[in-house]
Amino acid sequence: MKTVRLKARRERSVLLRHPWIFSGAVEAVEGDPAPGETVRVADAGNATLGQGAWSPASQIRVRLWAFGETRADEAFLREAVWRALAVRQGMAERFDTDALRLINAEADGLPGVTVDRYGDTLVGQFATAGAERNKASLVDALMALTGARSFYERSDVDGRAREGLEPAVGTLAGAEPPERIVIHEGPVRYEVDVRGGHKTGFYLDQRDNRRIVAECAKGRTVLNTFCYTGGFGVAAQAAGAAAVTHVDLSAPALAQARRNIALNGLPEAELIQENVFQALRGFRDRGRSFGLVVLDPPKFAETKAQTEKALRGYKDINLLGLKLVEPGGLLATFSCSGAIDPATFRMMLAGAARDAKRRVRILRALRQAPDHVESLDFPEGFYLKGFLCHVE
Ligand code: SAH
Repeated sequence: MKTVRLKARRERSVLLRHPWIFSGAVEAVEGDPAPGETVRVADAGNATLGQGAWSPASQIRVRLWAFGETRADEAFLREAVWRALAVRQGMAERFDTDALRLINAEADGLPGVTVDRYGDTLVGQFATAGAERNKASLVDALMALTGARSFYERSDVDGRAREGLEPAVGTLAGAEPPERIVIHEGPVRYEVDVRGGHKTGFYLDQRDNRRIVAECAKGRTVLNTFCYTGGFGVAAQAAGAAAVTHVDLSAPALAQARRNIALNGLPEAELIQENVFQALRGFRDRGRSFGLVVLDPPKFAETKAQTEKALRGYKDINLLGLKLVEPGGLLATFSCSGAIDPATFRMMLAGAARDAKRRVRILRALRQAPDHVESLDFPEGFYLKGFLCHVE
């Protein structure tokens, strides 16, 4: 097998079972592997450390599938799929849903591979050369092990370009998925557009948090910023919120939010197409307030280098959001930037509370739903954090 040999003393991260090998750690590449080909990774003394996928175009040159002497062949990948499904055994029933993340990339030992299930449709993203090269057998394994009707590919992710791969979308197995798939989370139903929606179609990572927010929404007026297809606001309204205001820049997202409101038999909500930074200032200037404010922005920091700028953005919306909460009301605030850790996010919020002259108590720390598993060996996989707060 072709071999990637590491520099002296660069094997430590592999021994700690971290799956990434950066270009700076590579001493030599033997045998000219093709992009995505499985290579043996060896230490400076040529002892085998594991097997992984070769990514010549990426700064992350190898992503390990297997550690030690284990062979990363087709049977191994199939077993990794099986294990990922086993981890989620019973989750759909427990969370009362038919939409679940089935494979969460590195955290499930399958770097570059993300697969979500929406009813009997699977939607996958293959973000790396190794994921791309093994796509057909991964899709076969998933179709066989889940009994799904279709597998739709949404590999239109930013990471593909860094791997030298073109975007790829379309049906990879089974029937064409329907235009819109209706999923449920508890009693709440949502339409998901797996072709045109964000990511694989829906923000499944917020499932628990939608329920937690909805549980305290009864009788309150709710401001749902960065609402996408309605998520938090629809759940809140279904749970008895007095009124809901949704804000997003995207017209298609708002149109879908409107359909989701109707799908649940709920009265119309206020839908505002505007930049949230402006909308919050507008509410402030008009003296409008809310009993519950949800702030769920997109990723402001793509990398550590963008942390400071991102924190200014988070502080801006949190400061404004806090000002809009009625005394005794609630704020649910999130960051999905992996580069910003919970302690930093909390410090930002403390600063925003001081500047807003509001006394804020954390009722609950929030995180990504359990089907978005996090591996102890791969802390990078934890990204979604938030707080549910009481605001005096
Ligand atoms: N809360 C949603 C997911 C939010 S995703 C859920 O639970 O499903 C982030 C959303 O923010 C996207 O819909 C995007 O269109 C919107 N968005 C991004 N920047 C924005 C801005 N500056 N103003 C308003 N909306 C924005």
